[in-house]
Amino acid sequence: MNNNPTVLEIDLSSIEHNLNFFRSKLQKGTKVLAVVKASAYGSDPLILSHFLEQQHVDYFAVAYTDEGITLRNAGIKTPILVLHPQISNLELLIEYDLEPNLYSKKIFLDFLHLSNRLKLTAYPIHIKFNTGLNRLGFKSSDTDFLLEQLKNQDSAYLSSIFSHLVASEDGNESVYSINQIKAFKSIADDFTTSLGYQPVMHMSNTSGIINYPEAHFNMVRLGLGLFGFTNDPKLNSSLKNVLSLKTVISQIHQIDMGQSVGYNRGFISQKDMKTATLPIGHADGFFRSFGQGMTSVEVNGHKAPVIGNVCMDMIMIDVTNIQCEEGDQVIIFDSQQDILDLANAASTISYEILTAFTSRIRRISI
Ligand SMILES: *Cc1c(COP(=O)(O)O)cnc(C)c1O
Repeated sequence: MNNNPTVLEIDLSSIEHNLNFFRSKLQKGTKVLAVVKASAYGSDPLILSHFLEQQHVDYFAVAYTDEGITLRNAGIKTPILVLHPQISNLELLIEYDLEPNLYSKKIFLDFLHLSNRLKLTAYPIHIKFNTGLNRLGFKSSDTDFLLEQLKNQDSAYLSSIFSHLVASEDGNESVYSINQIKAFKSIADDFTTSLGYQPVMHMSNTSGIINYPEAHFNMVRLGLGLFGFTNDPKLNSSLKNVLSLKTVISQIHQIDMGQSVGYNRGFISQKDMKTATLPIGHADGFFRSFGQGMTSVEVNGHKAPVIGNVCMDMIMIDVTNIQCEEGDQVIIFDSQQDILDLANAASTISYEILTAFTSRIRRISI
């Protein structure tokens, strides 16, 4: 049970709008995999995946096996690719009908050993190739080994092969990206020729969908774009904001000139003023770097700067010129620009802001 008045609202009609925007960029027949790792980018994995399943996305991806189990326990039926399954969890992964990304000889052979031992037939697996990110994946020179292994067994079925772009959002790195796409295409061709059946091929994340149509192959992996963000500010306005964070005023104080507010006297009043205290702090994911006037929230249509140091459970804001009282609603963010402003204040990217809000904050869909 969570009765926190601080609420992260998830606008599902915006998710639908954004999904359809990206679908409109695809050739007919190109599948959509929705990436719902990290609690669906900090929103709510169950609200998002139930909704996206109704929208007939073809696949889900999560990072870890536990995230996939959460979806299965909630009744999600869509295939789920586990991007970073961990060898120690492979048996659990099979138990929950999750599909592993196999990225190295060790995990690949361990999985085949297990699928043989469990006498599975045609269990769907996915193989990742490293085309330049140098994070997870086989080298192109491992292709012969993989084809040989796959042909000599029937416990696993190669559902897809994939790779990941290093800098799909960065036009200055387009040569690097195009080389990655070429390298993946050549691997894909080898599999098509030699495997005897056609696995799905995919390598585009959100920015890849926008910037590299030639990298769509027959599935794309859409994550951040669902929440209204791309690398291109112009395109963001064609997308809709999904997440809004709202709270209420706990208390109002009249502060005399020269008094301080908050821990370590982090703010000293230069005039007589009025402050409001809000029930959200750094333990909720409201970073300490958002304090000291670096960000503002919105009270009754007016901007109110965050003053002094962010506490673990609270912040104080300047509402000197704003009509407001205890219990009034406060909007911490409700637009893509608000979220980008928070990211700028903390010298980070939108991905990190979205995933920062902790489970203490209540999630609701609207
Ligand atoms: C997170 C992730 C994605 C989604 O990326 P976005 O930029 O959020 O669309 C796609 N593929 C892989 C392998 C990922 O880890």
